Amino acid sequence: MNGRPMVLAEDVHKAYGQHHVLKGVSMEVRAGEVVCVIGPSGSGKSTFLRCINHLEGIDGGRILVDGDLIGYRQNGDRLHDLKPKEAAAQRRDIGMVFQRFNLFPHLSALENITVAPTMVGGLKPAAATARARELLDRVGLSAKADAYPAQLSGGQQQRVAIARALAMDPKLMLFDEPTSALDPELVGEVLDVMKGLARSGMTMIVVTHEIGFAREVGDTLAFMDGGVVVESGRPAEVIAAPQRERTRAFLSHVL
Ligand code: ADP
Ligand code: MG
Repeated sequence: MNGRPMVLAEDVHKAYGQHHVLKGVSMEVRAGEVVCVIGPSGSGKSTFLRCINHLEGIDGGRILVDGDLIGYRQNGDRLHDLKPKEAAAQRRDIGMVFQRFNLFPHLSALENITVAPTMVGGLKPAAATARARELLDRVGLSAKADAYPAQLSGGQQQRVAIARALAMDPKLMLFDEPTSALDPELVGEVLDVMKGLARSGMTMIVVTHEIGFAREVGDTLAFMDGGVVVESGRPAEVIAAPQRERTRAFLSHVL
């Protein structure tokens, strides 16, 4: 960690119609830091990640990613926001991995990884292919370059999805319950890839129910409930001695 703030979220609010989902989320993520986010279903974890990635606009507060302001609204007036082009450029710097792998079914593993760098990133096909092979090697799937998603296990597909997200050289990776859809015996191989990524210095926000991963790999563990970060701190400390009753109750169910 070099201390530079990569994500700075302050008092972020988000509503879907009358449904106030984020009620003042604040979070700071420094470059190289791994923040794990836990919390009950419906607490706003996915919505928060989607706001960071410009998949949703915000209704209040502000989010900065690497110094660039995403949105800032006060007293109903939008004071500043990125233009659509700027937002698209920033989104290219943020890799996202979802619960469902969302690979293109008609493309091979290799082609899934090269499509964005060639179509959006302007890389020449040969360069994109070379880079994709490196990334497949990094996620332990060199031998599966030509396989189609249907020929891969869920764990292998998720590792391709991670490689695909890395192909745009993101400065921030967001993971939204990346192992929740996997059979238990496939979870470890995906977590291992994420561990390697964390060790390489990638800045990561990981929404997960894998408390063991959070304890081992996370620099910070944040507990969200009811649209706010209720508590955050060193994972081992939050897990061993939660300060808030809601955190304690949640952990008692997942541990
Ligand atoms: P989590 O990821 O913590 O389970 P979500 O961020 O997915 O929580 O959802 C938080 C709340 O926002 C839920 O009540 C959910 O139903 C609601 N919600 C999420 N996305 C939408 C949407 N696109 N439109 C309306 N409500 C939504
Ligand atoms: Mg979710």
